[in-house]
Amino acid sequence: MLWIIVAILLGISLLTWIFLIFSLIQENRYATLFIDMLPFYQPLNFFALLSVVISSYLILYIYEWSPPRWIAPLVLSIGIILNLSLIYPFRRWSNYYRLSVYAGFLDELKKEQYSVKRFSEYDHTSQLDKNKIHIFLRHDVDLSLNRLLNIIKLEIEKDIISTSFFRLHSEKYVFEKAIPIIQYLQSEGFEIGFHYEVLSQTKGNTEEALDLFAKELNKLREYIPIKVVSHHGDKYSNQKIWPLVDKTKLDVWSAYDMKKDIYITDTGGKNMIKHPGFHIFDKLKEAKSGDVVQILIHADWWY
Ligand SMILES: [Zn+2]
Repeated sequence: MLWIIVAILLGISLLTWIFLIFSLIQENRYATLFIDMLPFYQPLNFFALLSVVISSYLILYIYEWSPPRWIAPLVLSIGIILNLSLIYPFRRWSNYYRLSVYAGFLDELKKEQYSVKRFSEYDHTSQLDKNKIHIFLRHDVDLSLNRLLNIIKLEIEKDIISTSFFRLHSEKYVFEKAIPIIQYLQSEGFEIGFHYEVLSQTKGNTEEALDLFAKELNKLREYIPIKVVSHHGDKYSNQKIWPLVDKTKLDVWSAYDMKKDIYITDTGGKNMIKHPGFHIFDKLKEAKSGDVVQILIHADWWY
């Protein structure tokens, strides 16, 4: 009977740790899940550790063996180190990806020297006003519609305009759910783009991907006028299709074609901290009058 309890306890610990490790490794692809799970990592780790400690004592009891004195402090130290190691990713997010930090950044953008524009206001012949810093704020909507709405709510509050690029095949939202949000954004004066992933859809088949690009663009255009696109990044490098797309016929351009002087991005959630104390938003300070600044924010990272 005691052995069964020991086996169950050790099994629980093992599964919990496999889950924690998997979750931390996969943080890029499953940002929403990862961030939603952040507050639970440390308690889960603690309970897994507690299960190991209880089962160890049960094993000692079964064998009627009294361990050397240093065992208990050793187990305790390992437990503390494991728990502290989970604080690191949590701290990274808690300091840098707060919606309040984003709100502060929006306040900065409201200052006189900046002019925040829709992507459709970009002038490809570089004839923008030389007295302003031109800001093009972009959201690639990878995973969470709710998190996008958190960001949009702040932008509406601060009267800042942005362009959101929607996917048709997100792992976390069905396109039909995005339609009312797209219409809401349009009614609030925001702009919509297409976040394409056609090479991923066709598993690398270029010809099929080109067909699909036109089809999906038209599908989106049933709901909203689309002029600008951006590619979704994954192992199929969707941007490879871009040189082959007939831009004139389809009347589209890519956000990556913008001649930008400064590019600020939270891609992968990793670029936020270049070195301690430096936030990617600090890059804005380098902008001079007449500069074009493109800012890419993935709402999935922000909480
Ligand atoms: Zn993407």
